[in-house]
Amino acid sequence: MTDRISFHLDATDGKARTGKIQTTRGAIRTPAFMPVGTAATVKGMMPESVRATGADILLGNTYHLMLRPTAERIARLGGLHGFMNWDGPILTDSGGFQVMSLGALRKLDEDGVTFKSHIDGSKHRLTPERSMEIQALLGSDIVMCFDECPALPADRDRIATSMELSMRWAKRSKTAFGDRPGHALFGIQQGGLEQDLRAQSADALRDIGFDGYAIGGLAVGEGQAAMFDCLDYAPDQLPVDRPRYLMGVGKPDDIVGAVARGVDMMDCVLPSRSGRTGQAFTRRGVVNIRNARHADDPRPLDAECACPACSSYSRAYLHHVSRSKEMIAGMLLTWHNLHYYQDLMAGMRGAIAAGTFDAWQAVFHARRAEGDVEPI
Ligand SMILES: [Zn+2]
Repeated sequence: MTDRISFHLDATDGKARTGKIQTTRGAIRTPAFMPVGTAATVKGMMPESVRATGADILLGNTYHLMLRPTAERIARLGGLHGFMNWDGPILTDSGGFQVMSLGALRKLDEDGVTFKSHIDGSKHRLTPERSMEIQALLGSDIVMCFDECPALPADRDRIATSMELSMRWAKRSKTAFGDRPGHALFGIQQGGLEQDLRAQSADALRDIGFDGYAIGGLAVGEGQAAMFDCLDYAPDQLPVDRPRYLMGVGKPDDIVGAVARGVDMMDCVLPSRSGRTGQAFTRRGVVNIRNARHADDPRPLDAECACPACSSYSRAYLHHVSRSKEMIAGMLLTWHNLHYYQDLMAGMRGAIAAGTFDAWQAVFHARRAEGDVEPI
């Protein structure tokens, strides 16, 4: 136990890193994948099941929680950890990204953003100060700065103006966050796909000083090649002795490519959302369990996976319950997908520690290139 969040690197292999973020609620092994618990739940999963997949930390969404049930209510009930029965670390986003995604429903000014709830149309306002207040009420262990992020493609002037505003908001976020032992504040680098703007943003954040640094504004429509081009330099612009968090990424091969470029943390709704639509991530690529080819297939979804969906059920059963829209379909496939993602992270951590990450990546890509098992 410590009252400070600390980051320790155990090994590096090329640009890839493995280590631990120590928090008052336990260690986060990096590279880490954070399942998304948008509305104080990872949909379809009990918290102990999420833990059993190997997750060390969850992500919560400020935007959703501030609207319903509200941060004040969660604080009255003892904070987000007790409310949702998750005693491990929680990272909350700032609400900025989701508010910006509301498009016509929001209005941006220097001080913050006013928006209408997607639930009932009621009017709300978020500023750096209010975002820090909400994340403190939730009791989040890792708090994110309030930022603005344009959708890509956007012209350079728009990206520069937005990045400069985000840096002013980063300063205000730091001031409002204050000194909170046991809680960390992460800055968010912006600058789109412009290397010099990314460098300016990193310098501005470093001057303010944060416990960790996120790479924001990617995975917003630019495609994997452009994202990797940016990740060839963006992590290097951030302090080497702090965790680097790539927000909102991604598919398994996005994650592997990001780790190879020096990223330590990621989050994405993909494994949980896909589970609810019959999509499964396996060592041999994506499987759509609703496809007719699985209807009579007694084999497991992924023969090498130790999750409950793969160890106790057949493809035929998963196909049946998914086609029948039974609740257990989303539960089992979400469990499998989260388990697969955590296996992926554990595999990378082991390979980086052993200095065999290049070989590990070659096997990862070769297995996926084989494709799914032949139909029977
Ligand atoms: Zn499985």
